[in-house]
Amino acid sequence: MITKLLLDAKREGRALGADDIRELVAAYTRGDVPDYQMAAFAMAVCCKGMTGEETHALTDAMRVSGACLDWDDPGAPPTADKHSTGGVGDKLSLVIQPLAAACGLRVPSLAGRGLGLTGGTVDKLESIPGYNASLSLAEFKDTVNSCGVSIAAQTAEIAPADKKLYALRDVTGTVPSIPLIVASILSKKLAEGAGSLVFDVKCGEGAFMKTRADAEALASALVSGAKSAGRKAAALVTAMDDPLGYAVGNALEVEEAIDVLQNRAAPPDIADLSVELAARMVSLAKDMPLEDALAECRARLADGSAYKRFAMMSARHGGDLAAFRSRPRARHAREVPAPSGGYVAAIDSSAVARAAFILGAGRAKSSDSLDMEAGVVLAVKRGDKVETDSLLARLFTNERPESLDAAAAEITSAIKIADIPPPTTPRILKIVE
Ligand code: URA
Repeated sequence: MITKLLLDAKREGRALGADDIRELVAAYTRGDVPDYQMAAFAMAVCCKGMTGEETHALTDAMRVSGACLDWDDPGAPPTADKHSTGGVGDKLSLVIQPLAAACGLRVPSLAGRGLGLTGGTVDKLESIPGYNASLSLAEFKDTVNSCGVSIAAQTAEIAPADKKLYALRDVTGTVPSIPLIVASILSKKLAEGAGSLVFDVKCGEGAFMKTRADAEALASALVSGAKSAGRKAAALVTAMDDPLGYAVGNALEVEEAIDVLQNRAAPPDIADLSVELAARMVSLAKDMPLEDALAECRARLADGSAYKRFAMMSARHGGDLAAFRSRPRARHAREVPAPSGGYVAAIDSSAVARAAFILGAGRAKSSDSLDMEAGVVLAVKRGDKVETDSLLARLFTNERPESLDAAAAEITSAIKIADIPPPTTPRILKIVE
């Protein structure tokens, strides 16, 4: 049986041929290769790795396991998308995707619901009353072509091999393998069809990639994989030690993203990183010098065009932003005071995410429902001076008032206070082009 020979070869660390990988993935998607053999394959890849050619073949086999979108319409604007490996308070897609559209790109963006401590981009958007993220692929294309941007939920037609394999990896200890992660992320992004791809690979305690070496390896592999598939690509490795912005929680993050899009008082880290990432999309897609793309993004954010695109997209998806603004807020709230005075030396983003989770902002299993108003709004950033009893954060929940004490304890332990200010550290750690 060919699958057994492939497993023998991979266990011994030999590289597999592209045709064999394609056949294996196609047979697995059809149901002709059982889960136990595919799990053995995933474990062998985890232990022995894959060459660039093997990773490319695996990515392509998973891409063509389902529908592949084509945006090659003569005279239409170029397409680009951004993918983030995900972090705490990471609401950047809500700013970047409309901003890139305001700069003249078409931005098709299929995103996920969150499983774990906090919601995904689609969960956040679904906190806007009426927002329908579950579009057919035809509706998705129409929305992108009419508004310049659509953020919709990943459909079952895109890369079904990844859906099946990811579920298997999740229960067989085979998620942390760079070739498998690259094939998983890229197969979906390549099938979505954008001509330019920008990756935000988060690194740190609150991120999927905990170490700088792993984050840089993933960033390089994503960029070279996208380029081998004929796309323009770049990646930023960005620090995820403290949360992005102040808000962590679904509706709370949408509110903060809207503040950024409307140039209201908002933490500068979100606007700065959004402009950096959107400018890379614009620069790649329009073949424009980066400095010009940065200037264009800053201008389109400042003049409200990015917000207009967000509002157009939201309306086209059925979202009611007026109802979002006047919605009832969480029924239960708590303030967390500083236990001592000094400087905020660090904010442990994983502890902040745990606090948001126990308040109801995340889901432990895919069938769990979310409390859209639950979460944390920090009152401080790293480096801020605080007095004893001054405000560190506000906590919100509708459904779980009994968890406020535990969430407050998480926040108190997350925010480290020291006598001296911490050194400033950059958010962007590396650029891969
Ligand atoms: N995100 C994905 O889509 N796939 C992985 O394997 C890991 C993170």
